[in-house]
Amino acid sequence: MPEPRLAPILCDLDGVVWLSHEPIAGSVEAIAALRSAGHRVLFVTNNSYAKVAQQEETLNSIGIPAVGDVLTSSGAAATLLKPGQRVLVAGGPGVVEAVESVGAIVAGRTDDDSSPEAQAESDSEIDAVIVGFHRTFDFESMRRASAAVRAGATLIGTNDDATYPTSSGVIPGGGSILAAIATASGVAPIIAGKPFAPMGELVRRALNTRDLSSCWMVGDRYSTDGAFAKTIGAKFALASSGVIDRAGANMLQSEHKFELVVEDLVGLAKHLGITI
Ligand SMILES: [Mg+2]
Repeated sequence: MPEPRLAPILCDLDGVVWLSHEPIAGSVEAIAALRSAGHRVLFVTNNSYAKVAQQEETLNSIGIPAVGDVLTSSGAAATLLKPGQRVLVAGGPGVVEAVESVGAIVAGRTDDDSSPEAQAESDSEIDAVIVGFHRTFDFESMRRASAAVRAGATLIGTNDDATYPTSSGVIPGGGSILAAIATASGVAPIIAGKPFAPMGELVRRALNTRDLSSCWMVGDRYSTDGAFAKTIGAKFALASSGVIDRAGANMLQSEHKFELVVEDLVGLAKHLGITI
């Protein structure tokens, strides 16, 4: 069956474009070829900590221009806000940036070391608490965030990834911080990043369309990337260039019946009829 021309490509980063910021062989060339054939390529990442410009710069530094093409779980969380809402941030600079980009107000940050008087002011009448990965999380942060939720704020997590792989081993992810705050608050959070619906809303806004059925999502994790494709009604290509090998990818495909298994981005480009 011929592929529709110009299908947008939604591309995961770690395990597809790079592994711990080392480019995966062929990924830079494949993205350039997809773009010159006319495909819009968006990078869809659950990284909430770094500002968008920093993530664009990291891509640019390996030869992938990305200005305007990086969608983060912080941006997804901000789609849940309305202008003027007061937000308590338990996360990194990427969350602060996203909150301000939609006209909401960062009333306080749980790691701002403010005086009890200043906290009483900043933490009052909070509409939403947004939780993302940050390394300064402590008991005091948990106390402030959960108090705001108990007082009526909506609890939003940028993502629920329990751990992250790093070159020095597995570390706790933003989802572990979120779980602590949710437990202390006694509520279930709304989660924004892949595989959940707010990230789909961010993609729809970026592509200026409601219908994402022609899109391809390419990622290396079925549980986030594949489930996200299902959430938004897109096609899914599971790449065996990251956390799983080809045999594991084939097993997942026979279990979950998604469209495609590829070695890497070069394989996706070839499937779309593009030679590199
Ligand atoms: Mg990945």
